[in-house]
Amino acid sequence: QLKETAYLDKLSVAGQMAAAIAHEVRNPLTTVRGLIQFLGKDTKDEKLKEFSPLLLDELDRTNKIITDYLTMVRPADSELECLNINEVLRDVKSLIAPFGSMHDVEINLEDVGHFPLMADPQQLKQCLINLIKNGIEAIEGEGIIHIYKYASDKNVFTFIIEDNGKGMTDEELEQIGLPFYTTKSKGTGLGTMITYRLIQEMGGKLKYESQPDIGTRVLITLPVAIQE
Ligand code: ADP
Ligand code: MG
Repeated sequence: QLKETAYLDKLSVAGQMAAAIAHEVRNPLTTVRGLIQFLGKDTKDEKLKEFSPLLLDELDRTNKIITDYLTMVRPADSELECLNINEVLRDVKSLIAPFGSMHDVEINLEDVGHFPLMADPQQLKQCLINLIKNGIEAIEGEGIIHIYKYASDKNVFTFIIEDNGKGMTDEELEQIGLPFYTTKSKGTGLGTMITYRLIQEMGGKLKYESQPDIGTRVLITLPVAIQE
């Protein structure tokens, strides 16, 4: 179960400054990246040839951290639309399936029914991709991500993203969603936090259930659009 996130309130002044800095740092980063790419291309210098891909990787990682951070601190200007959850999930599946195949993970999406939701399509998709990506990354070897409906009534719709990956201990579960908490060498530790925040802004909820070596289940609850 995710804890209430009081730290979000503290972001006001310090957070805004950090966001401004993060934003400014991105421009020189882009220049440096372009130059390294240019220098590393067709070079005869062995060292440059060997290390430029590494430099580019690290710069991309830096850029990703900044992008994730900015997504988190910026007031999300959501454009709410009436969406059909079944279609959203199908879109998301086709976006993430190649990443799944790369990791020998199959995405098994059940028909969840045609429920109308009020949400920002881009933001909702970003959230679901973050969650499914985490599931895929938690699986060593072959595995399955199972997406299915859990419950619904006239106000809310709940569905589950389940993986049979490595799962989390209670201590790990307590830390998920905290900024920069990651157990991955190339992780940013911001994905879940952003997802949590965006879902909350849509009036929804996230809940985790996990067991080490068995897998993780994420319950996503979203408000159903009121039909005239
Ligand atoms: P990142 O993916 O960059 O590490 P996240 O905020 O998305 O950052 O996730 C934080 C951490 O939570 C991950 O590093 C991982 O340890 C844990 N985690 C998230 N989702 C899962 C999952 N489905 N199964 C196991 N661990 C998970
Ligand atoms: Mg992640």
